[in-house]
Amino acid sequence: MEIEKIKLFDNCTKPIVSAGPCSAESEEQVMQVASSLAGKGVTFFRAGIWKPRTKPGCFEGVGKEGLAWLRRVRSELSLPVATEVATPEHIEQCLEAGVDILWVGARTTANPFAVQDIADALRGVDIPVLVKNPVNPDLELWIGALERLNNAGIKQLGVIHRGFSSYGEKIFRNSPQWQIPLELKRRMPHIPMLCDPSHIAGKRELLSLLSQEAMDLNFDGLMIETHCYPDCALSDSRQQVTPAELFVILDRLVHRSSKSEGNEISRYRTLLDEIDGELMRLIAKRMQIAREIGEIKREKGLTVFQPFRYNEAMERFAAESALRSLDVEAMKDIFEVIHSESIRQQLRIVNDIK
Ligand code: PEP
Ligand code: MN
Repeated sequence: MEIEKIKLFDNCTKPIVSAGPCSAESEEQVMQVASSLAGKGVTFFRAGIWKPRTKPGCFEGVGKEGLAWLRRVRSELSLPVATEVATPEHIEQCLEAGVDILWVGARTTANPFAVQDIADALRGVDIPVLVKNPVNPDLELWIGALERLNNAGIKQLGVIHRGFSSYGEKIFRNSPQWQIPLELKRRMPHIPMLCDPSHIAGKRELLSLLSQEAMDLNFDGLMIETHCYPDCALSDSRQQVTPAELFVILDRLVHRSSKSEGNEISRYRTLLDEIDGELMRLIAKRMQIAREIGEIKREKGLTVFQPFRYNEAMERFAAESALRSLDVEAMKDIFEVIHSESIRQQLRIVNDIK
């Protein structure tokens, strides 16, 4: 993918900050929030104009009327503005209103037809587009959306991690599953990556913690929903904070260096690398012995999987983990993978697969 820097983020000290209400509700509300944010280090203002809601009958955004309010934020407060687009009509209206940054929402990223329509509508336009992760934890779908936009000529691309939805009671509204955005960053090191702790948390109490975690994981910025009267917000009221609370969260962030050369971490990393090598050697040895057992099973006509042996090994493993103060469930997961690989190796021997 041919990606360029987002010009608007040039000369911006880390973290890039996007703040503003979940939804634009009225001209007064938009101007009041934006005035409290302008000139205080916020990189760009966010506000949803068209809101994808789970159930019909909820507030679905003010629609294009709100674009004029964003225009005022731009011209009167010199604050760049961003909103969510989901259809070619949204794009047309945003381009006409001079919106600075567009973002693709999580529900839209999950739908390749919708993303393709957006990409086609943006062909030939040079505007930064931020792509939120799809609601489901599917990295390829996320990257696929970036590719569709990039194939249509969009070069100023960025991503926003807003967590992944799951069923049932949970601490987070959308679970962070950090390994997914981190893998994206590993594969696309130059793409700006923001974290949206508001939609991950679902409640304002967790914002500080998540924002710090994002900084520690080397995210480039944060998108935090901000409203002057969060409890009265027409959408996502539990997760919004006041501008004053936002600045407390930002001021408290501890910035740690991502450069590891020359500091003591690299010494420890060498140690970890050696231990990983040792683990590999042990696993290879274990597989070799498992294969030898496989030969015996084949000769004697025994089944490969023997439940009593598996349960016994699992129990021993759990006891050993507890003894070493390791997390029993996590260790069981690791053992299960190792055990199933041993079984796979033995099945190949018993069935004479070379
Ligand atoms: C939003 O940013 O208000 C929003 C709807 O986000 P998401 O697409 O992450 O749910
Ligand atoms: Mn929201």
